[in-house]
Amino acid sequence: MQGRVVLVTGGARGIGRGIAEAFLKAGARVMIADLGASGSSGSSGAADWAYDLAGTGDLERTVSEQAALGEVRATELDVTVKASCEAAVAATVEAFGGLDVLVNNAGVVQSGRIEEFSESDWDRIFAVNTKGIFLMTQAAIPALKASDHGSIVNTASIAGKKGVRRMAAYCGSKFAAIGITQSLAAELAPAGITVNAICPGMVGTAMWLEHLLPSNTVDTDAKDAEFTAAMERTIPLGRPQTIEDMGDAAVYLATARNVTGISLTVAGGYEMN
Ligand code: NAD
Repeated sequence: MQGRVVLVTGGARGIGRGIAEAFLKAGARVMIADLGASGSSGSSGAADWAYDLAGTGDLERTVSEQAALGEVRATELDVTVKASCEAAVAATVEAFGGLDVLVNNAGVVQSGRIEEFSESDWDRIFAVNTKGIFLMTQAAIPALKASDHGSIVNTASIAGKKGVRRMAAYCGSKFAAIGITQSLAAELAPAGITVNAICPGMVGTAMWLEHLLPSNTVDTDAKDAEFTAAMERTIPLGRPQTIEDMGDAAVYLATARNVTGISLTVAGGYEMN
């Protein structure tokens, strides 16, 4: 990865942050892209969600904390807006002179019974988790084609391999992400661009700790402990997954020259298909 250029969406925190860090440690130059002002001010409606999404503060903090690892920059991005996707790719090419790896990692989750699920939540989940991949990929293709090994890594989910109750929208969006990954892998192979997905198992990020965990506690330590204990009981390898696990997987998929169209589960044995 030495000197290669990577753009990570949803990179201000959580799994995206871990992926950015893994690429930096491998010698890549990284642009992290996330909601920024639109996440905190609601200018695109992005702030209006069941749990807080990343804001400008997260982008700035992550870049300053990662600066010691290598060349890292940040740009604001809303993956549901075509012009914003084009601007993020342009900012990356301008900053680093090209783009070799696009990581489509931005995502949102919402759970709930189908009878009560709101149409706007359904639309947002598909706009971010599915259409976001389309818009970012379309914007990035010219730059990826100019690379000697362009690569796309999508963050799908084990929820894209098996349906889960109260998760129809999220599972549907992640099944779609896997289908898009396979289709793009076939379509972009003649251009030498590989397209793969990571399917994380359970990582203790905002999605879990702020939303999915069936707990009302506001005590972060208690939530962390509850999450870890639940994962120890549930996952064959006896531990939750980490953002570092996802970073390792993303770097592998972006460097493997003869691997395309796969959806690599990183879930400690919880999902094996
Ligand atoms: P997270 O909420 O910490 O990270 C998601 C990031 O996406 C946030 O920084 C958020 O601001 C950003 N984002 C949301 N909407 C956006 C938009 N419109 N434009 C740009 N950025 C936007 O949660 P995470 O767990 O780190 O999630 C990262 C990815 O991993 C998601 O695609 C998620 O579905 C997937 N995933 C997570 C888990 C898990 O256990 N945490 C499991 C499987 C898959």
